[in-house]
Amino acid sequence: MEGPVGQKEKKQEFTLVAVSDLASSSSESQSKPVVARFSDDSGLAELRFYKESESATAINVDLRTAQIFKLSSVQSVCLTEGSDSTEEKTSYSRGVTVQFRNEEESRAFHCAFKQWKEEVLEGKPLPNGTIAATKSKFDDKIEASSAKMYFHYYGQLLHQQNMLQDYVRTGTYYAAVIENRADFVGRVVVDVGAGSGILSLFAAQAGAKHVYAVEASEMAEYARKLIVGNPSLGQRITVIKGKVEEVELPEKADILISEPMGTLLVNERMLESYVIARDRFLVPGGKMFPSVGRIHMAPFSDEYLFIEIANKALFWQQQNYYGVDLTPLYGSAFQGYFSQPVVDAFDPRLLVASPTYHVLDFTKSKEEDLYEIEIPLRFTASVGARVHGLACWFDVLFNGSTVQRWLTTAPGAPTTHWYQLRCVLTQPIYVMAGQEITGQLRMVAHNAQSYTLYLTLMAKMWGPGAEQGGIIQASSCKLDLKEPYYRMSQPQAYPLAQDQQSHPLINTQDIQIQSQDFEEAELMQHPSPNSGAQMNSMVENN
Ligand code: SAH
Repeated sequence: MEGPVGQKEKKQEFTLVAVSDLASSSSESQSKPVVARFSDDSGLAELRFYKESESATAINVDLRTAQIFKLSSVQSVCLTEGSDSTEEKTSYSRGVTVQFRNEEESRAFHCAFKQWKEEVLEGKPLPNGTIAATKSKFDDKIEASSAKMYFHYYGQLLHQQNMLQDYVRTGTYYAAVIENRADFVGRVVVDVGAGSGILSLFAAQAGAKHVYAVEASEMAEYARKLIVGNPSLGQRITVIKGKVEEVELPEKADILISEPMGTLLVNERMLESYVIARDRFLVPGGKMFPSVGRIHMAPFSDEYLFIEIANKALFWQQQNYYGVDLTPLYGSAFQGYFSQPVVDAFDPRLLVASPTYHVLDFTKSKEEDLYEIEIPLRFTASVGARVHGLACWFDVLFNGSTVQRWLTTAPGAPTTHWYQLRCVLTQPIYVMAGQEITGQLRMVAHNAQSYTLYLTLMAKMWGPGAEQGGIIQASSCKLDLKEPYYRMSQPQAYPLAQDQQSHPLINTQDIQIQSQDFEEAELMQHPSPNSGAQMNSMVENN
C-alpha cells in the first residue's frame, strides 16, 4: 500500500526461531521460521511477529510503549503497556518472548529495535496523526519512482540468476574470496547489496566469523531462504533487509564485500552506497572487496555501427507516411538514437589507439566525488581511420593480502554480462596514424540512478589546409547512460580467434600479470595508456 504523499515507507525484517505470547499458552512452533518485521506501512512504526504465509495470526507491538529485555544471549522479552479496552475500560500489558537463531542476530534485532523506537519518539506527529519518517541520503538524491523500479528489478530471481550465471563475474569473486581466506577468517563481514546472498555465503565459506547481508529489495527474503537452506554457513550469516544508507548494524565490519558495478562502472549509482557503507560500517583501515575500479577508454572506428544507428532515424525521413510528412521529427529522432550508449561485445581490433584509464579508489573516494566525474582524454592514433566514438569498459581489483585479482570486462577478454559500452559521435573525426586525439568525457549523475555523459573528441585536420592553420575537428555528443541500446542480439563481429590474444592495443594477460605486483600508489597516478582494460546496467548490474 502506498504511504501518505511525501512520506517514505520503510521496513526491516528478521528471521527468528520462535515467539510466544506470555498471555497465551501457545508458542509458535519451530517448523516454520517466524518473521519479525519493523515497518511504518500504516504510517506508524510498529513491530509485527508472524509466521510466513500466516499473517492472520500475527502479534503486533506498538513501538511507542514497547521495551525489550534480554533473558539470555539468544532470548529476549518484549513488553508493551496495555491500551484501554473500550468495553472493559481496563488496561493490560503484553509480553512476547523472542527466541533468536544466534547471538549476532539477537544483537542486530536489539539494535534495530532501539533505532525504530527512537525514530518513533523523535518523529513529529503530522496533522493526520502519522509519524514523519526521516529521509535517508538515498531518498534525498534518488527519485522514488526510479528506486521503486530498481529494487523491483533486483527483487526477482531471474535477474539475480542472470548475474550468478555470469561465471566470469561470480567465479572471479569466488576465487578472490577463497584465495584470500586470511582476509576473512574470524572476521566480521558486511555484504553491501547482498542480492541472493551469494557473496555472503562465499565469505562464510572462507571462514568469516559473521556476515551481515544487507539487501534493500524483496530478494532479501530469498537470500534468507538460501541461507537457511545452507545451515553450516547460514548460522554465521544475518540477512538485514533495508538500504545500507538506513539500516543499523550491531557491530563494525573488518571487511566489506560488494558487487556494486553497473554499466560503465558507475551506472545505477551503487558505488555511492558502497562508499556510504564504508563510512558507516567499516572499521578504520578495514578491507574492501573490491577496493579499486578503473574505467578504460579508447577511440574506435566502426562504420557498420555508425550506419546502423544513423539508419534507424531514416524512418522519419518519409514524406508520405499514410499521407503524413514525418520529416519534422527526423532531427530529433537522429539525436535520440545517438544519445543511446551502445552495449555489446566488440572486437578489440576496432580500437584505433591504446586505451587510457581513470581510477576510482573505493577506499578513499567521497560519495560526492561520484556526483560528477571529469576525465581528460589524450590518445595517439595507431592507424589512419574515421573515429566514430569512444569505447569504454572497466575492471575492479580485489586487493587481497594473499592474491590480487582483477575482474575485467575488456573487449577480447571472456565476455561478461556487462559487455562493453560505446559512445557514438553523430559526426565522425578523421585521423592519421600517429596523430593525437584529445577530448573529455564528463559524467554527471542524475536522480534516476544513472549519469548523463558528455563526450568531446578532437583532432587536428589533415590534408590540404591543415599545415597552415592547424584546424581542429571537434565532435561532441550527450548521452544518457540510463537508456542504452543493447545490441547483443545482433550478430557479433567477434569470433574469438587465437590471433586476438595478441592484439597490440589490449593484452588482457597484462592485467593479470600486472595485478600480481600492483601497488595502490601506482594506480593513483595519472592514467597512462596501455593499461589493459575493462562495466554494468540494469541489464545488469547490477
Ligand atoms: N551481491 C549480489 C547482488 C549484486 S546486484 C551478487 O553479487 O550476486 C546489487 C544488489 O544490491 C541488488 O540486489 C540491489 O537490490 C542491492 N542494492 C543496491 N543498492 C542498495 C542499497 N543502497 N542498499 C541495499 N541494497 C542495495
